[in-house]
Amino acid sequence: MSDPHNLFGSQQPFDPGSGKPGLFYSLPHLEQAGIGPISKLPVSIRLVLESVLRNCDGKRVTEASVRALANWKPNAERVEEIPFVVARIVLQDFTGVPLLVDLAAMRSAVARLGQNPTLIEPLVPVDLVVDHSVQVDFSGTADAWRQNLDMEFQRNRERYQFLKWGMQAFDTFKVVPPGIGIVHQVNLEYLAQGVLSVESQISNLKSQVYFPDTLVGTDSHTTMINGLGIVGWGVGGIEAEAGMLGQPVYFLTPDVVGVYLTGALREGVTATDLALTVTQLLRKLKVVGKFVEFFGPGATALPVVDRATIANMAPEYGATMGFFPIDEECLNYLRATGRSEAHCRTYENYYRAQGLWGIPQAGQVDYSQVAELDLAAVKPSVAGPKRPQDRIELQNLRREFFQAFQRPVTENGFGKTPKDFSRSVKVETAAKKKVRVATGSVVIAAITSCTNTSNPSVMLAAGLLAKKAVERGLKVNPAVKASLAPGSRVVTDYLKKTGLQPFLNKLRFNLVGYGCTTCIGNSGPLDAGIEDAVVKNDLVTASVLSGNRNFEARIHQNVKANFLMSPPLVVAFALAGRVDIDLSCEPLGTDKDGGQVYLADIWPTLAEIRDAMQSALKPEIFRKLYKNFAAQNPKWNEIPSSTGNVYDWDAKSTYIQEPPFFAKFSRQPGAIAEIKGARALGLFGDSVTTDHISPAGSIKKSSPAGKYLLDHGVAVEDFNSYGSRRGNDQVMTRGTFANVRIKNLMLGGEEGGHTLYFGAPASGPAQPEKMSIYDASIKYQAAGIPLVVIAGQEYGTGSSRDWAAKGTALLGVKAVVAQSFERIHRSNLVGMGVLPLQFLEGTTAQTLKLDG
Ligand code: SF4
Repeated sequence: MSDPHNLFGSQQPFDPGSGKPGLFYSLPHLEQAGIGPISKLPVSIRLVLESVLRNCDGKRVTEASVRALANWKPNAERVEEIPFVVARIVLQDFTGVPLLVDLAAMRSAVARLGQNPTLIEPLVPVDLVVDHSVQVDFSGTADAWRQNLDMEFQRNRERYQFLKWGMQAFDTFKVVPPGIGIVHQVNLEYLAQGVLSVESQISNLKSQVYFPDTLVGTDSHTTMINGLGIVGWGVGGIEAEAGMLGQPVYFLTPDVVGVYLTGALREGVTATDLALTVTQLLRKLKVVGKFVEFFGPGATALPVVDRATIANMAPEYGATMGFFPIDEECLNYLRATGRSEAHCRTYENYYRAQGLWGIPQAGQVDYSQVAELDLAAVKPSVAGPKRPQDRIELQNLRREFFQAFQRPVTENGFGKTPKDFSRSVKVETAAKKKVRVATGSVVIAAITSCTNTSNPSVMLAAGLLAKKAVERGLKVNPAVKASLAPGSRVVTDYLKKTGLQPFLNKLRFNLVGYGCTTCIGNSGPLDAGIEDAVVKNDLVTASVLSGNRNFEARIHQNVKANFLMSPPLVVAFALAGRVDIDLSCEPLGTDKDGGQVYLADIWPTLAEIRDAMQSALKPEIFRKLYKNFAAQNPKWNEIPSSTGNVYDWDAKSTYIQEPPFFAKFSRQPGAIAEIKGARALGLFGDSVTTDHISPAGSIKKSSPAGKYLLDHGVAVEDFNSYGSRRGNDQVMTRGTFANVRIKNLMLGGEEGGHTLYFGAPASGPAQPEKMSIYDASIKYQAAGIPLVVIAGQEYGTGSSRDWAAKGTALLGVKAVVAQSFERIHRSNLVGMGVLPLQFLEGTTAQTLKLDG
């Protein structure tokens, strides 16, 4: 926080309820001082305004910014950028390790310049949760989670050593070690405080200044915390680094779309169904770059865990945030998850004093636009097969899957013929089980992702459904790789306490780890025989998962159809073994007596779920499990840590390398070069995701990154994933545009990271040569030829992945010309010195006849 000031007399006394008086920056006082109609502003805007007001120092944040935001208009041209200083930062390990690599590289650069390296130190608290690395190598057995954890430590030892160095080198950097949980669930259940304070010296007196908990995270789904009334969203690692080093996060003043919720969810409908419905609704409203704020009686009645599931999917609906204001439910959640009574009192006092207590009702706040949703109208749903916004009512899935099967690939289909639909193959699995794998067979069923594992109602529903299924004698098809990966150990505690875990185990939904697993594509291998049959016969098989993203090749390289759904539906589809089924009228299977069992027969009632929740959730469990991680994690303790303020780079490491970004660092900015005589490195269509640009998943042996690792003595089984190699620029540059599903239109849309090499404009090869994008880039760079990338709509959607920009820059790309960009990726490109350019409205690469 900047030095305390008293702009407009807004610094006011505050009673935190602890007996010791405090101070706060009062929004009601700002309104009384006539600065703006603050009580009519959306709550999310008021919370950002508090930060702008409190951090006003006349330099980074000026009085003009305070006045501008205090006078936010629902509908106005948006030209002003807001300087937002956040209270803290959260990281996950895939993005956090490269960020720590950058900080370490900055320290090395500062040391080389003869300065004190500790000048580089985060100015706000930073928490990194190690959650993205665990893979589902083992599943379906009691010991699977321990075996996966062992593998994780074996594969990631170097990265974890490096994190431990970071913990001792930086004062403000903390790590939640592997095996504890998933970043957003850990944030919700433990890290988030809701209200924070710092000690400040004011007129020779020390005083606590209280302020709202706000954050940015290097993961798109940071928005899950919006469910607890906390402002926060995902930013690229590059922006987060700037935020850590004291720069405000800048963003264009947003429109705020209010979503007026009424009614209540019906029997048989889950929070996941609601989240998928909201995603579809808001995608259509085009909320990209906007805040979404939920209000009305339906929002008031939703528990925080349901709000969090909806907020989590903000990146899927395209909004910067999916925000629920602060109220009694938030307080109940803080209490239920073990936050202290004293803290809860301060929390309530603070938001009451700010006039921010309670979810707004109709007419109380002015929004840019209002959408309405009656919760009673929400129906059981899934989303897929390729995009989270493509919601399908459960009863229509069979028909929709069949249609998607035949739709062209460009329309999110599979481009097959009806004849291909009947394809099926008999396979013998490694466990000597004979199975039939066909179009629509479920080969992965994963209860995964913080989106849902943070919500006990859907997790308990999965357990209850499993119990009823087992009691009726149903079994999961042996072709299905089933897994359960909760986002915290609290889930295991309540699934055990309610006696439901053994039933999940019987259906092979054994615990596989506490981490992202399938949600981030760490699904691990399929049974070799099944995978072989799928590839050889080009079968469109399916995954069913309780995650939030289902882009091609995200879940598994060879599983083409991916459906998002609630955890109980994941169990149901694992039982059915296929997605070309209408669960409203076709049976899941037969019971012990040969009777048909339908989904409705085993679906848990709301009352059953509520009873299970009441008996299971206890604050003391949260307190116990979120205490002293190191003591609970002997494997983490065994990892040695190097010491010192400057990292001792190991040239032989294939995980951690000093990146070249600061190699020629000087105190003077470099010149801006013109882009002349450039060649196209790739020509892409619409919806190229950051995962297409910089995949997180497995590394192919034959890819440039695979060859690099082999050359450096790494065996194929130790390749690990791109995500885990983000501390090594050599691997990541080779992996840029190396997604097996990326289609370069210069090669007629052929899949894989290849391009045509044309040589220098004057003296290129007679015939353009096909080669990997990396190899072409090296040749072009050696010849001093600048490169451009040409693309269609929504370039860079998907996760906030800064390597998508870093890799692009290191490949020698100087500009990306697209029809439209995703916000974070565009900002990351700018951060890396790559110019994002947009085609004029109505023109495209095709209308301009650009063929690369
Ligand atoms: S579980 Fe999925 S949404 Fe949650 S942090 Fe991991 S990858 Fe992101």
